[in-house]
Amino acid sequence: MKIERLTIDADSAGQEFFLRVFRFRGTGDASTVYLQAALHAHEVPGTVALDRLIPRLEKAEREGRLAADVTVVPHANPIGLSQVLFGETLGRFDFSGRANFNRTFPASAKDGQATQRADDRLKAQLLALATEADIALDLHCDDEGPVYLYVLERQLEQGRRLAQSLGASVILTDSGEDPFSFVLKVAERWAGQGRENDARFSATVELRGMIDVTPDLAEQDAAGLYRYLVDLGTVEDTLSPVTPLEPVTGDIDAAELVLTPAPGALMLNAEVGEWVTEGQLLAVIVTEAGLEQHEIRAPFDGLVVTRRDRRIVRRGEYVVKVLRHPRPLQE
Ligand SMILES: [Zn+2]
Repeated sequence: MKIERLTIDADSAGQEFFLRVFRFRGTGDASTVYLQAALHAHEVPGTVALDRLIPRLEKAEREGRLAADVTVVPHANPIGLSQVLFGETLGRFDFSGRANFNRTFPASAKDGQATQRADDRLKAQLLALATEADIALDLHCDDEGPVYLYVLERQLEQGRRLAQSLGASVILTDSGEDPFSFVLKVAERWAGQGRENDARFSATVELRGMIDVTPDLAEQDAAGLYRYLVDLGTVEDTLSPVTPLEPVTGDIDAAELVLTPAPGALMLNAEVGEWVTEGQLLAVIVTEAGLEQHEIRAPFDGLVVTRRDRRIVRRGEYVVKVLRHPRPLQE
């Protein structure tokens, strides 16, 4: 295991950021893998999963069971980590330019230009690291949710394979026409290099919710990632088989963010993973206690994929994400 320290110049004098990059060297012929966590800096379930995965990779490397290189970046966003407002780390948007750290990526031609700002330097560095590999996973989490994936529509089969290893219950697919996210951008760069083929795969992995950070879940997710590396042949090991599961699959456009028409205290009636029918009560918003409340109902039959993690909302904010989907017969 080699640990690199990659400096990202800050836009203010006297400051710099850095990325810690763990490199594991493989000796065979298999898919190389890049794993990063906390691109949205305050989303740390992936960080602790990678913390638990690193010793497994060290052991595999030491024992000559690593068939291809694995690169791990547990803290992908040092800029976001430095952004604290009134005691809360806010790592989704860049405080300087206001861009979402998982959106608006620099054109590769601009990489390294002197005028490039810190958030773009960071994104360029991460994209360069991810694009080196054959497989790139970007570990995030939602407000409250299950383990679920975003993958390219044409890579759904590879997505199912990853879902099996991680125990992901939902896969949302994207056409990739608008490469808006980190992993879509990675796929676009692979295609630009003529490297896009069945051996390449990138996915956003949502590891449940913001507060789902526990020793047990970190172990479970590290084991899931390890199982995936074994399944790919990147790590040589023999694991007992898992019970196959069939994730619910839908287009990203079929997953609707239900927004609140009124501000107030949010009382949720639907659970993550619950199948709901059109018109079913999802939440009640108490706007003026004793005077005014609003009901939020399911816009269609489907699955409650995620829920907001705060219990106070302003008008127009997201309350739940429902995937339009018929209820599976076995449920
Ligand atoms: Zn995120």
